[in-house]
This record gives sequence, C-alpha cells and structure tokens, in this order.
Amino acid sequence: MIRVENLSKKFGELTVLKEINIEIHKGEVISIIGPSGTGKSTFLRCLNLLETPSGGKIFIDEIDILDKSTDVPKIRQKMGMVFQSFNLFSHLTVMENLTIGQIKLLGRKKEEAEQKAMDLLKLVGLAEKADSFADELSGGQKQRVAIARCLSMDPEIILFDEPTSALDPTMVSEVLAVIRRLAKEGMTLAIVTHEMDFSRDVSNRVFYMDEGLIYEDGSPQQIFENPQREKTRAFINRIRSFNYKIDSPDFDLYAMNAEIERFCEKHVLPKKMINNVLLILEELMMINKSVSKEIDVNLTLSYSEKRDTLEIIFESGGDEGNILEKIDQDEIGLMIINNLTESIEYSSLNNRNKLNMFLKKG
Ligand code: ADP
Ligand code: MG
Repeated sequence: MIRVENLSKKFGELTVLKEINIEIHKGEVISIIGPSGTGKSTFLRCLNLLETPSGGKIFIDEIDILDKSTDVPKIRQKMGMVFQSFNLFSHLTVMENLTIGQIKLLGRKKEEAEQKAMDLLKLVGLAEKADSFADELSGGQKQRVAIARCLSMDPEIILFDEPTSALDPTMVSEVLAVIRRLAKEGMTLAIVTHEMDFSRDVSNRVFYMDEGLIYEDGSPQQIFENPQREKTRAFINRIRSFNYKIDSPDFDLYAMNAEIERFCEKHVLPKKMINNVLLILEELMMINKSVSKEIDVNLTLSYSEKRDTLEIIFESGGDEGNILEKIDQDEIGLMIINNLTESIEYSSLNNRNKLNMFLKKG
C-alpha cells in the first residue's frame, strides 16, 4: 500500500532522514519507536507531504506521490493524521469539527455528514458530546474527537504522531483503547509512540528509528524481546552505562568511587547496592593487581531500567586468562565477590579478559 524508496530529508545542513526503505501493507499496524530527534515526526510528515522530501520516492497504491502530475490533496485524503496536539477548531462544536471537512472537501450533504459523524462519535464513545464545544472537552476526549474527525474522511491509513504524549496520564488509556479498536477492525495504522507496552501488543511490526534510518525493523517479539542491533538493545533496555579506564597502579580510587556513586544515585539504586559495587570493585582490583603484570582495566557499569539489573563489566588486558581462577579459591576477596553477584561469565577476545557480573538485588 505504501512503498518508500531511498527517502531522505535535509533541513539545510542537517540530514534528518538518510535513506528510508520500507513497505507498509494494507491492514498492518506499524509502530515507530526511537529516541527523540531521530526523525520520526519528519518521516510521517514526509509520507503525507506536509514536508517535501529531499530525495527518494514514495508510492501510495503504486502511485508516485512526488510526481508533479499527482493530485496531492486527493492523496493526502487517503492518509489521515492525528497529532500530539489535537488541532481541533476550539470555537466549533464537536459535530461541526466532524462535518466541516466532509462537506467542504468531500462534497457530502450535511445530513449525510452528520450521520457519519454520529456513528464515529459512538465508535469513540463520545456521542453525548456532539453539541459541546471542542474546548470544553478534556484532553483525552479531544484526542478521541480528533481520531473520529480523521476517520470521517474515510482514510486508507492513519498516521499517529505521539497521540498520547500531550495527555494527562489518566487519559492515556482511553485514547489507546480507541486506537486498539481501529487496529482490531483492520485499519492500516502507523503510530509513533513512546508507549512500549501498547506498541508491543497492538502492532504487527515495529520500526526502530535511529541514525536517520529505520535502524531495525521486526516483529514486536523481535524488537522487544530479542533486538538484533546494539542501539535497539540499548533503547529497549534503557541501558545506561558508566565507563572508567584504569591504566596505572596509582589511579585515583577515590575519584572513581565518587563517580560510581554519582552514577548509581542518578539511577536511584539502593545504598546497599552501591556499597556492594564498590566492594566488588575493590576486591577485583586487588586480585587483578596480584595476578596481572600490568594495570590495564576498562570498567563498565551498565544499568538496565527495564530489567532493573546492574552489571559490572571488568575488562583487563594480558594473557592471564580468567583472573578469578588464578588465585586461591579460599581467598576472602573471591568469596566476597561470589557472595554479592548473581552470575559471573568469563570470556576473552584478542588478549582482553572480560568478566560480566550481574549483581544480586537487595
Ligand atoms: P522526532 O519526531 O523523532 O523527535 P523530528 O522529526 O521532530 O524527530 O526531528 C528530527 C530533527 O529534525 C531534529 O533535530 C529537529 O530539530 C529537526 N527538524 C524537524 N523539523 C524541522 C524543521 N522544520 N526545520 C529544521 N529542523 C527541523
Ligand atoms: Mg516527534
């Protein structure tokens, strides 16, 4: 239904979309996720020509919509768009908001338009608000009216740009419920959203946008459970990490500890966990010093918000192998480390020894 080839978009010097290649089929529900500023809105706006792409092609039902001879208003009618900020006419009634486009753009008769509007208001649960003014409604109600208005134009696909971002948390679910219903009825939808649980259970495909690309495209299962690429993984797991290089025996332990504490506090980790991290690191450094000839350590702390786990990645240079196996297994330091961690994995690559340790909770 929609095919995009090598789509690019620049704003002056800034390249927002580098090269987008996708297809959206009839009846698909696509959610588009990714960090802010990665061009999600720009992408939707290019699709319905609110922005003019800098390069590439967009085909809707095999019609090249960037071709000069294409009837743009007609194409645009096939694609409804719902924005973060509703965009209703606040001085008109709900009914007038829903009929004005039908009458002016589609040439429908007033009665026919009103009948259609009423059916759609029932669908979004707002039939009794037909005569209210748009600015008398709550945010969630306004957004449902905006969806009904969009449907009143008989679009073939609806593009949603963060439809719940401007809402009070209490109103998010009523809007998502309406979108869910449209999805169930087989409407083709493309939804930019930060609501990950919603995205996971409503869509049949997820686009993760980053670096001006659809960086990863997959089933919700793949994207949320088993993302294949690094940036997707970091975004999905909301991994935040802290990195520290130690290359001399005289490194500033106090400064490192202070930075680690700051990092942990920022992620609201319990005090006890912070102490455990510091304790493990102190023991690790001692063991490393007794086993390794040189001090060449790359330390990473990685906190995953989604899993609520903290991982220590202790990577050291040299050919000693697993430093934890090079010492007396009754060593108190090793016992401390084993006690405070859930799991320890060792791997080595190019003379770098890597220990991945997950901390125990609580
Ligand atoms: P997202 O929706 O993923 O947060 P946007 O598509 O809104 O990202 O924006 C992507 C980038 O393009 C941002 O850096 C933004 O500042 C820039 N941008 C968006 N619209 C314009 C515009 N009309 N003029 C100049 N820069 C823009
Ligand atoms: Mg946006």
